[in-house]
Amino acid sequence: MIRDMAAGPRVLLKRLRELMAEPLEPQERLDRIVRDIAANMVAEVCSLYVLRADSVLELYATVGLNPNAVHLAQLRLGQGLVGTIAASARALNLSNAQEHPAFAYLPETGEEIYHSFLGVPVLRAGRTLGVLVVQNKTMRHYRDDEIEALETTAMVIAEMIASGDIGRLSRPGLELDLSRPASFTGIAFNEGVGLGHVVLHEPRIVVTNLFNEDSGEELRRLEDSLGSLRLSIDDMLERRDVAFEGEHREVLEAYRMFANDRGWVRRLEEAIRNGLTAEAAVEKVQSDMRARMMHMTDPYLRERMSDFDDLANRLLRQLLGRGPETIAESLPKDAIIVARSMGAAELLDYPRDRLRGLVLEDGAPTSHVVIVARAMGIPVAGQMKGVVSMSENGDPIIVDGVEGAVHLRPQPDLEAAYAEKVRFRARRQELYRELRKKPSETKDGVKVDLLMNAGLAVDLPQLAEAGAAGIGLFRTELQFMVASTFPRAEAQEKLYRDVLDTARGRPVTFRTIDIGGDKVLPYFKGSAQEEENPALGWRAIRLTLDRPGLLRTQIRALLKAAGGRELKVMLPMVTELGEIAQAREIIDREVRHLSRFAHHLPTSLKLGAMIEVPSLLWQLDELMQAVDFVSVGSNDLFQFVMAADRGNTQLADRFDTLSVPFLRVLKQIADAGLRNHTPVTLCGELAGKPISAMALLGLGYRSISMSPASIGPVKAMLTELPLGELTAFLDDNLAGPAARLPMRALLQAFADDRSIPL
Ligand code: PEP
Ligand code: MG
Repeated sequence: MIRDMAAGPRVLLKRLRELMAEPLEPQERLDRIVRDIAANMVAEVCSLYVLRADSVLELYATVGLNPNAVHLAQLRLGQGLVGTIAASARALNLSNAQEHPAFAYLPETGEEIYHSFLGVPVLRAGRTLGVLVVQNKTMRHYRDDEIEALETTAMVIAEMIASGDIGRLSRPGLELDLSRPASFTGIAFNEGVGLGHVVLHEPRIVVTNLFNEDSGEELRRLEDSLGSLRLSIDDMLERRDVAFEGEHREVLEAYRMFANDRGWVRRLEEAIRNGLTAEAAVEKVQSDMRARMMHMTDPYLRERMSDFDDLANRLLRQLLGRGPETIAESLPKDAIIVARSMGAAELLDYPRDRLRGLVLEDGAPTSHVVIVARAMGIPVAGQMKGVVSMSENGDPIIVDGVEGAVHLRPQPDLEAAYAEKVRFRARRQELYRELRKKPSETKDGVKVDLLMNAGLAVDLPQLAEAGAAGIGLFRTELQFMVASTFPRAEAQEKLYRDVLDTARGRPVTFRTIDIGGDKVLPYFKGSAQEEENPALGWRAIRLTLDRPGLLRTQIRALLKAAGGRELKVMLPMVTELGEIAQAREIIDREVRHLSRFAHHLPTSLKLGAMIEVPSLLWQLDELMQAVDFVSVGSNDLFQFVMAADRGNTQLADRFDTLSVPFLRVLKQIADAGLRNHTPVTLCGELAGKPISAMALLGLGYRSISMSPASIGPVKAMLTELPLGELTAFLDDNLAGPAARLPMRALLQAFADDRSIPL
């Protein structure tokens, strides 16, 4: 007679399902579970050890060992057979346990009379939460289907631990590992501190329906879902879309390979035959695999693991009939999104008023999602290795975008310290809000325009909130960077129109697309060859003059959006004046074209150039005559004047933006503007720091543009600043030989002596 190997596990799972449904106290439930497992597997012993936050495995339930040892017997992680299983996340199947080198004898349990031993890790999302063991007196070797059954049972127990049911049995100071506080350090991507609760961006789909009624039906569901998954991957690969070239394509190829991996599919089918639903089978197989691969050091394999994770998630969504973009309806009011990585558009799907922060396992300061998060004004910390698998939806979490740290399930004192920080920042914000009502004037009555930088629709509400006099730099390339294909002319026009509508007559300066360099468009292969020095390469105005179609479309969208209003357009990375003339020709042609078709044109059109390339410094007067205004892009100008890559963290603190040579450069520009009656603005990061903003005013700048969050602190400085004194002070210190102290220190002392808040 052929024995139905899966009958045992199925009966056991059925029993477990009944036990889960019964209104039992947690200890009673655990006691019954171990009893039923032992009976089902004809074992004399069944014990459950649970991992505590102090890395100790505590005996939580047993049948067969001394019942008085429950909650007393304990093993360290890595100690004994149980500790070895937990540390390696692998099952151990031994016919004579005492012979194993890791065997440790615990007198309180009286276990020496048992020979055979089978232990499996209790896993959830690849984390070990405990160990489940069966033992027999006789020397026997447990069959594969028995191992599988015990693993499946362990998965049910993992859910009980994660749901908090078993945690109720823990004693103060001896909490479970799942609730252990964990801190991560990485990189600060956007300033600010956020306290809130974890929202996993790729929510670990919680499979609540574990036990199947009909294995055949579940196998069919799995087969169907795998089929659609494979089709959707093939589909993506066949779309000869530029967006899917390069790395993107490699990932998809890997997905396709995994989706057809026989071993993976076989393990899924086996789990279903043992009584799990298709979704529970996916979760179980994935968790086993993740736990095993977690110990691998090979970065390539670990990377593949995250591909596998994504694939399993896709399969779960297929099975549950969920689209990828369903944002949790029950999003907490203080959501902190935790993601491995994410697209910029995905972040925009979350309601802004519920976001308190963003945590990324990967990410770079220039990744698009970070740019968008910055625009939204939410704190971001990235490169937090391991944070996704350690987090559960709803866990308390702190993101520190100042230090570049994340604290998961923080201790109360840490939480209190951070809450104080948040209150302090809120008080300061309140102060800045008050300042909005005051005119933007120095202490001695000189008017200064404080403008803000923007680039996306999400920035717009900040215009009113920050109290900016207008938008000094609208980075139009951001719309291109967060899109997956070139934004159509209509989409561009709509954004520009929205910007002007929101500005309600306040000035807005649109910069034509500044792509290239580190601003990469995934769907646009820029240069024909790899650039050795992309910052000095085919970018910004150089690129748009070579691809005039791009510029023409953008100019037309701008002209249409600004019909009946003033339009200010500025060109990035201008190197020689001929570039301005060429751009002007394109603009004039578009104006003629639109007027021929009786379009409503802007009431005035002003063309400006950014000063970012040092070559302009020796033709400042000609430049000022060639344009209606200029804006200093101090980020690029500094990088080119100092020959220091602006993105290189090793150089970040090496050269000072407030050093004498650079201040002299900035002064030359301000003076040339004055001489030629050409308005000058500065829109680099320099404008946003109170100390450097103060220096700029002293050099003669009367209009500066910065991130919205900087307007408050800069205004607080400005209203206390006796500008006449500062101008004389700077003139003295910049004209002659270099002063004894660095300029930064002199400026700081100037402010301290006069109680100017910096
Ligand atoms: C600059 O270079 O200072 C500037 C404002 O442009 P971006 O930072 O976008 O290069
Ligand atoms: Mg620039």
